[in-house]
Amino acid sequence: PKVPTIDNEPMLSYAPGSPERAALQAALKEIEQGAPFEVPIIVNGKELRPGQPTGKQLMPHDHAKSLCTYYEADAATVQTAIDGALAAKEEWEALPWSDRAAIFLKAADLVSKKYRYKLMAATMLGQGKNAWQAEIDAAAELSDFFRFGVKYVEELYAQQPPKNAPGCWNRVEYRPLEGFVLAVSPFNFTAIGGNLCAAPAIVGNVVVWKPSPAATYSNYIVYQIMKEAGVPPGVIQFVPGVPDTVVQAAIGSPHFAALHFTGSTYIFRKLWKDIAMNVDKYITYPRLVGETGGKNFHVVHPSADVKNAVLQTIRGAFEYQGQKCSALSRLYVPESLWEAKDGFRDQLLAEISKIKAGDPTDFSNFMGPVIGKPAFDKIVSYIQKAKDAGGEVIVGGNGDDSKGYFVQPTVIVTKDPKSVTMQEEIFGPVITAYVYKDEDFERTLDLVNTTSQYALTGAIFSTDRKALLLASNKLRNAAGNVYYNEKCTGAVVGQQPFGGARGSGTNDKAGSISIYYRFVSARSIKENF
Ligand code: GLU
Repeated sequence: PKVPTIDNEPMLSYAPGSPERAALQAALKEIEQGAPFEVPIIVNGKELRPGQPTGKQLMPHDHAKSLCTYYEADAATVQTAIDGALAAKEEWEALPWSDRAAIFLKAADLVSKKYRYKLMAATMLGQGKNAWQAEIDAAAELSDFFRFGVKYVEELYAQQPPKNAPGCWNRVEYRPLEGFVLAVSPFNFTAIGGNLCAAPAIVGNVVVWKPSPAATYSNYIVYQIMKEAGVPPGVIQFVPGVPDTVVQAAIGSPHFAALHFTGSTYIFRKLWKDIAMNVDKYITYPRLVGETGGKNFHVVHPSADVKNAVLQTIRGAFEYQGQKCSALSRLYVPESLWEAKDGFRDQLLAEISKIKAGDPTDFSNFMGPVIGKPAFDKIVSYIQKAKDAGGEVIVGGNGDDSKGYFVQPTVIVTKDPKSVTMQEEIFGPVITAYVYKDEDFERTLDLVNTTSQYALTGAIFSTDRKALLLASNKLRNAAGNVYYNEKCTGAVVGQQPFGGARGSGTNDKAGSISIYYRFVSARSIKENF
């Protein structure tokens, strides 16, 4: 069947006085008044509440407040979830494709029409996003993932069939994997949790989902949306818990068939090794699909439009406090532009001085808190390391965790282009800048290419097409997503397939058709007449 036309979810403005702002404010009030909520484990559609809820999700802008408590699954519960998922599998994969498609189209509409403000409010209070960042994520990207999944899977199933020979008809079926998929999702995008489950489920797989503890409440709502849309009991099992307990129990099962992961490079590599140690006991070779860390760059050429490059730099580095895998964290600017009166440095400092930060539910704040205490400590310690190594903090540099976890937008200028904060992922609002001699543009590109183990995103700013091309060629393996004259964040589903290479992931491109191939196992059929 032909599916309905698929478009990106239109984004709302949240301008003062707009109906959407009023609706979001009402949803925020309702959640603030109702918190803390209690989130169960959900297995086979049943809510489990064993013993006491032992997990807690705090509000990062005000850590005295708890958004929810949640129950944590032990290994036996994970096993029950796996058994239930496997039991649900046959019926789910036998469902006609149009019915699975309809479920996810309905889920998209539930996000955009019925649950938009609740989901955004949960993301703002629990994960520290302001309204616009929550709109990009919990409203637009989540519904886009659901809708575009339907479009891409339709295309996948409609592939050119193989050639036939006289008296013989050949077909290829794209079957789900044998076993279950383990989805391990991050705190920083509510939408990613949805996609890590939906992408495998839409092609007929069953999924055991371990949400991030720091996004439990919004992810619980995402689960409820998928359920209300018609995902049958058992097909997606919602299993919060201590990450290591849940994940080890899942990858210890012979039926473990794939890992769909977004998170740190360190954890993904660790899981890869753990999975390798179990390889003899698996029924199939598990598919490992991961989007991991980044050390994303902006390279500014002497021909760049400075005003644009400065604004994009601020947005790329400081929106959502730099807590996107794609966020800008290393910046290369030519001396002529950096030093000029009203040049890059002056404009950067002037714009940063205007940034307002604080409670993310206050619409005047551009920045909010970082996610929690470990993140706060890590970011502050990296700023200290940069200073110890001779870096000059030209703005920001301090944090305050007395009420919430706030870190100032920070720019460090380094004379050492391979210093630690040019290489390692900080996951916070910190730019390390290296000012290069104008004549060294090409050498600088070599530096960009060889400084970090990551290759997620990057941007090149230039009005000179030749310079753009040179940079693009030299940096061809340095970023899975590269942007010309635009910040390195903000990939849109269906428009910029997203994913990184090198230490940044398996580059399977979320928001494109390629991800769906990872969750199917093709079967060729030959029939003679
Ligand atoms: N897709 C997001 C972007 O392009 C980043 C996703 C992530 O942080 O994992 O900004």
